[in-house]
Amino acid sequence: MKKITILIPCYNEAKSLLILYEEIIRVISVLNDYTWEILWVNDGSQDETLKVIVALREKDTRVSYVDLSRNFGKENALLAGLDYAHGDAVIIMDADMQHPPQVIPDMVRKWEEGYDDVYARRKTRGKESWLRKRLTLFYYKLLQSSSRLDVLPNVGDFRLLDRKCINALCQLRESGRYTKGMYCYIGFKKTGVEFDTQDRINGESSMSFKKLLKLALEGITSYTTAPLRWATIAGLMVSLFAFAYMVFVFLKALIYGDPVAGYPTLITVILFIGGVQLLTIGIIGEYLAKVFVEVKNRPVYFVREYKGENTNENKPD
Ligand code: UDP
Ligand code: MG
Repeated sequence: MKKITILIPCYNEAKSLLILYEEIIRVISVLNDYTWEILWVNDGSQDETLKVIVALREKDTRVSYVDLSRNFGKENALLAGLDYAHGDAVIIMDADMQHPPQVIPDMVRKWEEGYDDVYARRKTRGKESWLRKRLTLFYYKLLQSSSRLDVLPNVGDFRLLDRKCINALCQLRESGRYTKGMYCYIGFKKTGVEFDTQDRINGESSMSFKKLLKLALEGITSYTTAPLRWATIAGLMVSLFAFAYMVFVFLKALIYGDPVAGYPTLITVILFIGGVQLLTIGIIGEYLAKVFVEVKNRPVYFVREYKGENTNENKPD
């Protein structure tokens, strides 16, 4: 019998876990042709999350968990989950009920049709500010136009991945992780199903604007080197303009003489070029910082405890 792992990263989700668990159980109880593993990754929660998971495991052997040594962030928690998942396929979902388990049967059906990566596309985005929606849209446009690979808008981590995809993702072990880009990078046969995003049932999204901005930058810098090229192009344009202006100033001085004026032009040009230079250095710095982090080649997460089907086992191969 094929096995499917449901992988759920949780950070301070104690209040939502039980509701989600019950919902999942209800949905999978009709999918009898598979064995199931429900794998929780506790990403250093400070609330009762781990306790709730341990209690679940005591009454249900399908539940397993990875307890990380601290909060490593969702992207890293996901990799931990993929490393420890036993299934022939993994379904990744959020713990806050924003990803409705009702979509699971559809995903599984598509998987059986031979697709390797069945992503769930949001028909609606749930409660979000107007600005956040606009910015997200703009961001995907920018990302798409600056790289060859298609990062799909309105598609997140909610998806089913075949073992082939999981093995591929597990080989991408960089510290600056942008999983959304990785799904595209690895390729394989993809298709989508649709769902309506629900509102978070408990608590606040831990993705503050600052965190999202960081992830967005991560996305651009780990996905494409286009900003470096933009910097080159900007430099080129400024130089061309400066050259033309130089010829103009030179000729003007030759023909009309030079009554030393032009302080405003001078200061504007100096400030403008100074700004462009700083911006460019900033862009180079972003990439250099990534190199700095990646050359350390540190493990992306540490595990405090793993309890799987076979408790004695430390890590699946
Ligand atoms: N999450 C995590 N580690 C973190 C932050 C979030 O494992 O540092 C989990 C969280 O528990 C949830 C999922 O990632 O299951 C999505 O987080 P959230 O709902 O806060 O983000 P949003 O839905 O707003 O993108
Ligand atoms: Mg959420």
